[in-house]
Amino acid sequence: MQVSEDSEYKPKRARPTQPRSQPMMRLDPLVRARIADDRDLWSDFNRICDCRGRLAGTASERRALALIKQCARQAAGGIAGRSLPVPYGGWSARRAELRLPDGSTAPCHPLVRTIATSPAGLDAEVVDLGRGTPDEFEAHRSDIDGRIVLVRHELMFAAGTIHRRRKYEMARKAGAAGFLIAGPQPGALVAGSCGRVGCQGIPAAGISPETANQLRRRADGWRRATLMIETTEAPAESETHIIDIPGETDEWVALSAHVDGHDLAESAMDNATGLAAALGVIRALAPEIRKYRRGVRLAFFSVEEWALTGSARYVQSLSEEERKEIVLNINLAARRSPRSPAVLPRSSRSCCVSPRRTGARFVYSAH
Ligand SMILES: [Zn+2]
Repeated sequence: MQVSEDSEYKPKRARPTQPRSQPMMRLDPLVRARIADDRDLWSDFNRICDCRGRLAGTASERRALALIKQCARQAAGGIAGRSLPVPYGGWSARRAELRLPDGSTAPCHPLVRTIATSPAGLDAEVVDLGRGTPDEFEAHRSDIDGRIVLVRHELMFAAGTIHRRRKYEMARKAGAAGFLIAGPQPGALVAGSCGRVGCQGIPAAGISPETANQLRRRADGWRRATLMIETTEAPAESETHIIDIPGETDEWVALSAHVDGHDLAESAMDNATGLAAALGVIRALAPEIRKYRRGVRLAFFSVEEWALTGSARYVQSLSEEERKEIVLNINLAARRSPRSPAVLPRSSRSCCVSPRRTGARFVYSAH
């Protein structure tokens, strides 16, 4: 198509993917080749999963921390790390049981930090709020008081997700006596934290969709269920493990991943993938870092699935000056769909910060 200079026609120009003032950071081909050829990535991932779910305070978490320390030292070219103590309110479940109206029991999984029921259990009617949106809570406000609220668990990474902890909080505030959350996968339970802070709370457990079906209201009225949960609570301590690999200056890029998870399975995606990726990145970068302007601070947090306790303690341990120097945190949650891999940044600020900003510290965390 010919267009004269005085024509109204203005061809569309492709938008530059990077503003010119912010040069693209290109990965060194050598580092790229090391990452592509990394045979340890998969075996690290499997060894981490073999530690099982890594719930904070369990032998599984301790095994994983020991493994990560050993792998991280190796990946960092032998540099020894240091551990910061992380005191927290320890919790474990000794027993959980759900009795159905026909007298049978159904499998259930206590949500992390749920309160216990009385020894006889919580016996109450169950009000099924479907997905458990704020509208559904509002529409059934008068039905909730004194009953066990039943809602559905949602995929974390979808737009518009309503988090389990929000639903728990809505149930608690509306006067529910207990909280049940059912997942979508046949036969599978839901694990996760209820997000309880302090002493206030209601007993909470994850159940399967089949059990949820049995608890739906029928023509003859609400179903009843008895939830029994026994717990132990005591002060506990975990750790954050840090390895500093110095660059030319005393500025740092922090790369972190959390070690702990939940105990139903192996916490493979969240966060064995992040741990294996962090180890792989350090393995590839370690021989080069001393030539870089900034060093890398590798941090492995735990008690992170409990309201981000490990990383919060770490930030509290920094001086005011050190905190001011942090300019960007990028939290990466990655999933691979059959069609394409996706990385979802959940950054606390815009990602468009110049990498040349003086005195900057960058924090990348895999969660
Ligand atoms: Zn996580």
